[in-house]
Amino acid sequence: MPNQSIKNTTKSAAPTEPTVKVKKITPPQLVRGMHDLLPAEWPWWNFISSVIKEQAEAYRFERLETPILEKLNLFTRAIGGSTDIVEKEMFAFVDKNEDHLALRPEYTAGLARAYIEHGMMALHKPIKLFCFGPVFRHERPQAGRFREFRQYDFEIYGEAGAAADAQIILLASSFFSKLHLPITIQINSVGCPTCRAAFRQKLVDYFRSKRSHLCEDCKRRLVKNPLRILDCKVEECHAQALRAPQIVDSLCLECSTHFTKLLEYLDEVDLAYQLNPYLVRGLDYYTRTVFEIWAEGDDGKNTLAAGGRYDNLITDLGGVATPAIGFAGGAERLILELKARAIPVPEIPPPDLFLACLGEPARKKAFRLFEELRNQGVKVAESFTKDGLKGQLEIANKLKVKFALVLGQKEMMDGTIIVRDMENGIQEIVDLKKVVTEIKKRIEASVTDTSLL
Ligand code: ATP
Ligand code: MG
Repeated sequence: MPNQSIKNTTKSAAPTEPTVKVKKITPPQLVRGMHDLLPAEWPWWNFISSVIKEQAEAYRFERLETPILEKLNLFTRAIGGSTDIVEKEMFAFVDKNEDHLALRPEYTAGLARAYIEHGMMALHKPIKLFCFGPVFRHERPQAGRFREFRQYDFEIYGEAGAAADAQIILLASSFFSKLHLPITIQINSVGCPTCRAAFRQKLVDYFRSKRSHLCEDCKRRLVKNPLRILDCKVEECHAQALRAPQIVDSLCLECSTHFTKLLEYLDEVDLAYQLNPYLVRGLDYYTRTVFEIWAEGDDGKNTLAAGGRYDNLITDLGGVATPAIGFAGGAERLILELKARAIPVPEIPPPDLFLACLGEPARKKAFRLFEELRNQGVKVAESFTKDGLKGQLEIANKLKVKFALVLGQKEMMDGTIIVRDMENGIQEIVDLKKVVTEIKKRIEASVTDTSLL
């Protein structure tokens, strides 16, 4: 109320301005660990998406997407109560109906649920599925570690033979080759519940005598999940792990035969790999084959992708026994690695054409012409909100288009339009009615494919 503030002023001659209290508004901010994928990032995202799609087509995987939100107990049952994911990293909450829900921390549990729920056991095997989308883990954000990140995931259901393990590893390996990223493949077998139980006991006996050298997490793991001590990244624990018993020596005959066969398949295609006895993976559901993909020179602290076999997962969730194998990788981590190694990615191709206009009647006509060109498959850009021709042509230059169409008042009256070659500045007057056909011909004649590396 301005009057009131005038009354409140002191005796000074000139009335002061009414004081308007400006409420400070705090702009909204990202939730910690989340990130926006800004336009500049998309050449990388498009590149990896296209390679994921290529791999799916080449190896005949079909896409299946599950919801981001699932019942909490799906993950606790599938992933295992003593894993980092379930113990510490889940975004879990109770909704308005008192349902216990969680944002998916990975894809496999949801895919297994979908497999059972849609009766896929009745389908012809193997069933090859892939997905690509966001997953959530409440971890401490740092380089390459986010709370929301995207995973690509490939899984084969209904194939127990080692050929499926080999194919999944080959798919992963050729995926990184197509991205021009040098990697190493780390492989191990974690056996089946029977041989693993015996190995677990051997490990507990060994690490118990080294207990004082273990980190606090590993002291807990000694009781809950002793295999995970083997891949602890704390130096002292790793030093103890170097002399620990190795699981390959404890595998039962079936598991060791399976592992040997897998290695034979990989040798058959000359795929280089490293046997890594310390690789156990963080999830309880793995049986037999486990593997990780590391960027060349990395020591496993920044794993690009990881996977393995989980033959008991479907039965553990109440489905009909179905062996399965799969792997998943983090897309953000992959993009960071591509950038760190300055690996070129295809640019988003520029539009074919820029449509410029002068004056309101021409703008209306251009508005319509834009739609005609677009319907004819011409990639056309415009800047209808800019008035001056100079400003419009500057944008055309920035976009690196080969041609610009200019529609001014004179052309409107003559029923023509100017075609400008942006490389040499040569202009030509063309009949407005024929311009779509005319420009298509020129674009086709000038095409060089920029979409491939
Ligand atoms: P890490 O040992 O790095 O925590 P993990 O064993 O928990 O990885 P998986 O559950 O196997 O990871 O997930 C597969 C892939 O997803 C990882 O190899 C990695 O590329 C990616 N990933 C896992 N956690 C994150 C995260 N918090 N942020 C970004 N990417 C991640
Ligand atoms: Mg983790």
